[in-house]
Amino acid sequence: MNTELVVIDEKNIDDAAKASIDKAGNIIKSGGLVAFPTETVYGLGGDALNKHSSEKIYAAKGRPSDNPLIVHVSDMDALTKIVKEVPEAAKKLADAFWPGPLTMIMNKTDAVPYETTGGLDTVAIRMPNNKIALELIKASGGYIAAPSANTSGRPSPTVARYCVEDLSGKIEMIIDGGQVGIGLESTIVDLTSDEPMILRPGYITADMIKEVLGKVSIDKTIIDSTSTLKPKAPGMKYKHYAPKGELTIVQGPMEEVIKYINDKAACAKKSGKRVGVIGTDATKDKYVADIVKSLGDREDENTIAHELFKALREFDDDKVDIMFSESFDDNGIGQAIMNRLLKAAGHNVIVL
Ligand code: AMP
Ligand code: MG
Repeated sequence: MNTELVVIDEKNIDDAAKASIDKAGNIIKSGGLVAFPTETVYGLGGDALNKHSSEKIYAAKGRPSDNPLIVHVSDMDALTKIVKEVPEAAKKLADAFWPGPLTMIMNKTDAVPYETTGGLDTVAIRMPNNKIALELIKASGGYIAAPSANTSGRPSPTVARYCVEDLSGKIEMIIDGGQVGIGLESTIVDLTSDEPMILRPGYITADMIKEVLGKVSIDKTIIDSTSTLKPKAPGMKYKHYAPKGELTIVQGPMEEVIKYINDKAACAKKSGKRVGVIGTDATKDKYVADIVKSLGDREDENTIAHELFKALREFDDDKVDIMFSESFDDNGIGQAIMNRLLKAAGHNVIVL
């Protein structure tokens, strides 16, 4: 299949851009797939209400079909058709955070095929905060099922180049809307039981949700990596976000972390391995390795979140065999950063 690549500037959606979005909308309406930018990561979109589209999404990504897709909408009215009822909590959270990086789980109607929800009676819904995405949803008939636009198991794409790398030849179109703003996937909150529960941490933190709803719990399997419980969000059980090389997170006093990583890097280099290190602005000059990447200022968590998947992908591009990363604080958005980093490392952590 020939994959058409179009470039659209989110800040200037002119007539040519509108025509491209209409074309993309028609592709989705007729059962095809389009990769598009959102504010979190790039999405791989198909018609959420067409089971064949969802099957194609799983096939293009190589994603296990019991790992449900998020349905993207562009207005609140769209919910009526796809959920049995809109819980009060959902209205409040939508008021506060939509369009934005929050996905809500509700009870689905028959309009949503089980192929989209991985066999579940619930559906995950989000309204993305990106003009291209919102226009595309409208042009596609209102409901786009979209997981991240990467091959299953690889780090989520934050630039269109990585969608091209993973999906070229497998889908009809890729819309390049530049680098995404947030760089980590949405927070997922389950609203199908009395107590709202966070199933995946993201940019919208537990404290932000608590401020709106007064309460929220967090799925234990997110915080406790040794837990043998089954995560409530099916996707969380899979090894995700994995770079091709082997990643180890090193925790402890910073001087010791630097010494440990440099010792290990020297050993690995001796045996002919290419070594990469993920540090921060304050430490990057202290490492000796083939490639050292800074995720930015340690205090600036938004930048760290934004740079993480990009750094992991770049290590792949540079054919790095072994990687070490510093650890980050587990508060606020730091919880999402550490959740993704731990998954990328397959929970391989050294505590000094
Ligand atoms: P992705 O699209 O790759 O960001 O992944 C979407 C994730 O949302 C899935 O991997 C699931 O973990 C989660 N999810 C989607 N639908 C549901 C649902 N109905 N119930 C619980 N989790 C869900
Ligand atoms: Mg994903």
